[in-house]
Amino acid sequence: MATLEIHDLHVSVEAENGPREILKGVDLTIKQGETHAVMGPNGSGKSTLAYSLAGHPKYTVTGGTVTLDGEDVLEMSVDERARAGVFLAMQYPVEVPGVSVSNFLRTSATAVRGEAPKLRTWVKEVKSAMEQLQMDPAFAERNVNEGFSGGEKKRHEILQLELLKPKIAILDETDSGLDVDALRIVSEGVNRVRETGEVGTLLITHYTRILRYIKPDFVHVFANGRIAESGGAELADQLENEGYDKYVKGGA
Ligand code: ADP
Ligand code: MG
Ligand code: MG
Repeated sequence: MATLEIHDLHVSVEAENGPREILKGVDLTIKQGETHAVMGPNGSGKSTLAYSLAGHPKYTVTGGTVTLDGEDVLEMSVDERARAGVFLAMQYPVEVPGVSVSNFLRTSATAVRGEAPKLRTWVKEVKSAMEQLQMDPAFAERNVNEGFSGGEKKRHEILQLELLKPKIAILDETDSGLDVDALRIVSEGVNRVRETGEVGTLLITHYTRILRYIKPDFVHVFANGRIAESGGAELADQLENEGYDKYVKGGA
């Protein structure tokens, strides 16, 4: 079973008046098969954590370690991370003009698996995954993220998740901007992947509502660039009732 270990991670971004530290010592261990919810107020650094794990060039790691089964993830290029099995669904996915969903998925799968998937089984795989997410087959021919609605972007992310079968999946605010039906369909997709027991999920969210559909094994409160508290699913209920005030004002 793969294990992602984040230890005392410090990350800075280049701001106008020089580097600014956003992550201030994050400790988190995620094993394949586990679902972790990371919850916190806006601006606490949740997306910074996701981007840092994915290797986004804007974020500079100034201290700490990230390893996947002992291998140094921070030394890996973005592609190497994907091949090693780390998947990031972004809060603000980018458009890829001129590249269809279908080609994008096949190219990604080829990169991650190390060989091109056999065309006939691949087409079936994509078709069945799209059906489960209640996506129109015509969607496969559209350009990636071009004119996608919020719900389409999120379904596209879950489609990638189902097809790429990563070891560690980082889902950044997959619930934002979804109506109730889309939220349920997206959550069911995450749960299908989860039931394989092969994926460790880091579910980053501001709101507790997605946790009605996806029951986390662990909940972490993120505040001021670090994990302020960790617990089980009951911690999410507490957050739903009490909000984040105590963590923000208390200067945790
Ligand atoms: P969250 O996802 O929890 O809302 P973010 O990680 O997006 O938080 O942002 C944390 C803090 O870091 C915010 O104050 C944000 O303005 C700042 N920040 C994030 N990315 C950048 C960047 N590229 N340049 C400058 N500041 C940034
Ligand atoms: Mg420290
Ligand atoms: Mg964010």
